[in-house]
Amino acid sequence: MKHEITELDKIVGLLSRDACELFNRFYSFEISTGRLAIPRGMEDWVKKRFGSVERVEKQRIVSIKNKFTCEHSLFNKLRIDRPVEAKSTIAQDELIEKEKCLFCNPEKQTPADVFGRVKGKYCITASNIAKYDSFHSLIIFNEHNPLKIKREWIEDYLRTGECWFEEVSKCEGEKKMQKFFMWNCLWRSGASIIHGHIQLTASRMRYGKLEVWDKVAANYKIKFNTDYFEDLYKVHESLGLAKVNKAERVLVYLTPVKEKEIIVVSGARKSDEMADTIYELLKKYLDMGVQSFNLAIFQLEEYHIVRLVDRGSLADRNSDIGAMELYTASVISSDPFKLIKVI
Ligand SMILES: [Zn+2]
Repeated sequence: MKHEITELDKIVGLLSRDACELFNRFYSFEISTGRLAIPRGMEDWVKKRFGSVERVEKQRIVSIKNKFTCEHSLFNKLRIDRPVEAKSTIAQDELIEKEKCLFCNPEKQTPADVFGRVKGKYCITASNIAKYDSFHSLIIFNEHNPLKIKREWIEDYLRTGECWFEEVSKCEGEKKMQKFFMWNCLWRSGASIIHGHIQLTASRMRYGKLEVWDKVAANYKIKFNTDYFEDLYKVHESLGLAKVNKAERVLVYLTPVKEKEIIVVSGARKSDEMADTIYELLKKYLDMGVQSFNLAIFQLEEYHIVRLVDRGSLADRNSDIGAMELYTASVISSDPFKLIKVI
């Protein structure tokens, strides 16, 4: 049987009784058909664009929701029947144009933190000029082009970030700070500067969306006496949507926030220990033609969690998120069952 998300009912039907029970503990889903009528005058255009009129007149839709977190994604067969690889859509010239780049000269053209800068081998920190939170800084890569990556560079960026969090902790004394790494790569992801950089925030208050996960994991332990992430991994593994890379568990997420979302659950004590896995995943992303992505790293209980998501073509003028994503559920055009084969 061809495994694809719109055949989720059949895939779940093949699970063992225990695996099926665990799947049903985590997820509810519904498969339905959206119907429409194509007027004769549109037929040629529809055939050219979608292959056949029938495919458009009956569209199979899967709606899947995580019962604990309420993360919810909608997949339409018409949208996901495309190869997982995206075409590179933008000339690299724009990405290597360094003239007037402030981040190419960070020590003179970016502010420092009050405790100074942390210097890595391949990067340096700067303070963010307009802060999201009281501690908000940047790891500015030595390499200008954000789509050029190397394993040792990633490790160095993450290690430098960890050193920055240590500096922040020294400033704050006994208060426990929450560390958050975010890598917005190129403008589709929200980045305002092309030059490669990761942002760091340290906060005393737990960010709201992370607190939801904290509560879910804590309540899960009380109710089932097992670990939420352990079981989340088991569900993905039973469907063939998970793999292990070194010490990290990689899940091609069943309820992605947007395209091609991958979640890594790691027992690493520090983020730089995950450099191999993060590098491998980013390399696969770039090989697929992804040019703009968001990567986030945070801690949850004893885990480090990485979330990675594709933000679409740099050539598109329309945003990839709208009212659906902001207020209801995510509309997804990539099939997790195709993605796992590529990563
Ligand atoms: Zn630059």
